[in-house]
Amino acid sequence: MFEYDHRVLKAIEQVYGDSRSFLEAISMPSRRLYIRVNTLRITPEDLLDRLRSRGLEVYRDEELAEALYFPVKGPNKVDSEKPRVVVDKRAAESVYMGANLYAPGVIDCDESITPGTEVTIVSPRGFVVGEGVAEMSCWDMKRRRKGLAVRVTRSVFEAPRLRELPEYREGLFYPQSLPAMYVTRVLDPKPGEVVVDMCAAPGGKTGHIVELSQGRAYVLAFDHSRSKILELYENMRRLGHTYAVEIWRADSRYLHIDYPWIRADKVLVDPPCSALGVRPKIEDSKTWRDIEASAQYQIQFLRTAIRIAKIGGVIVYSTCTITIEENEMVIERIVEEEKCVEVVDTGIRRSSRGVYGVFRDLYTRFHPTLHDVTGYFIAKLVKVCES
Ligand code: SAH
Repeated sequence: MFEYDHRVLKAIEQVYGDSRSFLEAISMPSRRLYIRVNTLRITPEDLLDRLRSRGLEVYRDEELAEALYFPVKGPNKVDSEKPRVVVDKRAAESVYMGANLYAPGVIDCDESITPGTEVTIVSPRGFVVGEGVAEMSCWDMKRRRKGLAVRVTRSVFEAPRLRELPEYREGLFYPQSLPAMYVTRVLDPKPGEVVVDMCAAPGGKTGHIVELSQGRAYVLAFDHSRSKILELYENMRRLGHTYAVEIWRADSRYLHIDYPWIRADKVLVDPPCSALGVRPKIEDSKTWRDIEASAQYQIQFLRTAIRIAKIGGVIVYSTCTITIEENEMVIERIVEEEKCVEVVDTGIRRSSRGVYGVFRDLYTRFHPTLHDVTGYFIAKLVKVCES
């Protein structure tokens, strides 16, 4: 199911000793599905009560006040013998977790399927993710391209369908992994500060920045992708945060040139990465070339982040991947290149330290194998002089 070339596997082994335990961990979801409470709209206690009154099993996180979680059930055995609906990777991963199947996710289906047919849902490579009852014919699934295609009755894992809850539509919470919440906690945005989110869309961390600064920071959110900016805008609108964020479409590697007036107290760099830590994954392919290209790209955001930060300004770098090349090595290169920046402790205790290099005690790593979470890397830098 995982097509990783031997150098990618080597990179995994460098961190985990062998790649098996890691690949096993990422092919399954965490046992907890987390959401972040929109604390500008509701208290965690009140949201907990509302969700429990719907009959949902939900708990408060032990450490982060704004984090709630739902236990994930499974794995369940799923019938693989029924007429098949083949879905794309994204839809397969949702159905795997208990979501219904919508027509845009369908790639192919058994022509015999009509409304009411019991079906098996499989990933592009034939991995069984769930079963359910067709709501439309195969012909409609392929031609109509919208609407509910299969009502899922059984899936490998089960978690609440968060996006179907009224509390979601009312913007009372945002689905987000626990390590992602720690990233913004490390950034620690405060009222009155200028905060730049360089790779913002779809806005998971941007929303958290607004909440932690009580809507009183000057937040500049940049992203390069037009379609993802629309998602970012929609998320800020739903959460009620649009008044507190300026959204710009830009290639943020050049912010120091295109927005030379920016002097930031805080800069968040959450760039594209190989996403090896994201789970659950049903199938994935990556080559060493992808990792190298990511690392080359990531350092460019950091160079700019340092330029737009004030002296004393904080830069937080995070990725949802585990390779040393995209994490510790990116930071070590930037620190070597730029004399005016220092690595400082992230202050997170609920995680492991970095695995490589002279600054190893200051980085944070969340491991899918140890902490039952998405794999994450977090580093905190301070700009100490003008270069
Ligand atoms: N911080 C986001 C996730 C960011 S994913 C969250 O917490 O929800 C990385 C983002 O970087 C993507 O949205 C991608 O569109 C954006 N990106 C990629 N290249 C970019 C560039 N050159 N300039 C600005 N944004 C870029």
